[in-house]
Amino acid sequence: MSSDVLAVAEHRRGEIRDVSYELITAGHHLANDTGGDLHLAVIGGDTERFGEDLNREGVDYVHTVSEGEEFNHDIYVQAVEALHAELDPEVVLMPNSVNGLDYAPAVANRLDIPLATDAVGVDYDGGLTVTREMYGSKVETTVEVGGDQQAVTIRGAEWPAAEGVGDAEIAEFDADIDTDVGSTVTGFEEVGSGDVDISEADFIVSIGRGIEEEENLPLIEDLVEALDATLASSRPIVDNGWLPKNRQVGQSGKVVTPKVYLAIGISGAVQHVAGMKGSDTIVAVNTDPNAPIFDIADYGIVGDLFEVVPELIEEFE
Ligand SMILES: Cc1cc2nc3c(=O)[nH]c(=O)nc-3n(C[C@H](O)[C@H](O)[C@H](O)COP(=O)(O)OP(=O)(O)OC[C@H]3O[C@@H](n4cnc5c(N)ncnc54)[C@H](O)[C@@H]3O)c2cc1C
Repeated sequence: MSSDVLAVAEHRRGEIRDVSYELITAGHHLANDTGGDLHLAVIGGDTERFGEDLNREGVDYVHTVSEGEEFNHDIYVQAVEALHAELDPEVVLMPNSVNGLDYAPAVANRLDIPLATDAVGVDYDGGLTVTREMYGSKVETTVEVGGDQQAVTIRGAEWPAAEGVGDAEIAEFDADIDTDVGSTVTGFEEVGSGDVDISEADFIVSIGRGIEEEENLPLIEDLVEALDATLASSRPIVDNGWLPKNRQVGQSGKVVTPKVYLAIGISGAVQHVAGMKGSDTIVAVNTDPNAPIFDIADYGIVGDLFEVVPELIEEFE
């Protein structure tokens, strides 16, 4: 086994995703501690251009695997497994994204190594420790991950993106992929494309299950209009089909960083908080004074949204 770190980049529709540069920062920090090299892998798409994009300070090697265009579970699992066999790294880092959570468990299973997910910190001091959040982000726990080799998925927006052009060795890696596999990618369709991008919004009004019924949406839309804000929501609203998926804030939705995030009838579950805790100012309206959202809110209104929202509209119109 080497003391190296292997990080697997992510791309979508021809662009390297931000989390890939954050993986470099986390991986560089870890490789400094293990005393090994940082290897980046990029699988599929325009690997030549991606390889250049990923050549940032701190990266020692970029391995490109030219197979497929977009993400494919079977190809990623095989490619990471093959790279692992070649490099024998101490730690494999993958994004805690929808794609990462799809293939990382399969990789860990095939390699028979432990997997720690959703890490907000990684450290090595003779052994790997991973920091995770618990109880609605109220508690951070540091977990020792056993075994000689480990796999970790890291949460997006927790590490700064790596900058500066590096001097990595970029080379094609022949992973000997079997393309006669169970899954095929037939195309890519962005959910709700053409609608607004909530991750760009400065003022977000976000609604949760507290609004009870779809019929109550127009009330919130009036507030959105009065405040010249952007409408977003927690996952149940999207699951119910009341708003499109691209309005969902959270772990399986979008990460937003507005100046103001007004959370209405949202409890503040950890998966929601993961997507909005970087907001400058958080304001929450909730009937339950013990709702976890109040733990991270800068301003809180304990009250019934059906009374509070009309008053807010009147105030701002
Ligand atoms: C793998 C996984 C990924 C997930 N990803 C996401 C994600 O990306 N985003 C996300 O949001 N969730 C996600 N979830 C779901 C998450 O765990 C919660 O279930 C969800 O965030 C809860 O949404 P909510 O706050 O709207 O609803 P609830 O938890 O039901 O909260 C509703 C809140 O409204 C309040 N309320 C009720 N009536 C009123 C009223 N009249 N006025 C004011 N307040 C009122 C209640 O007190 C309560 O606090 C995920 C879950 C899993 C397992």
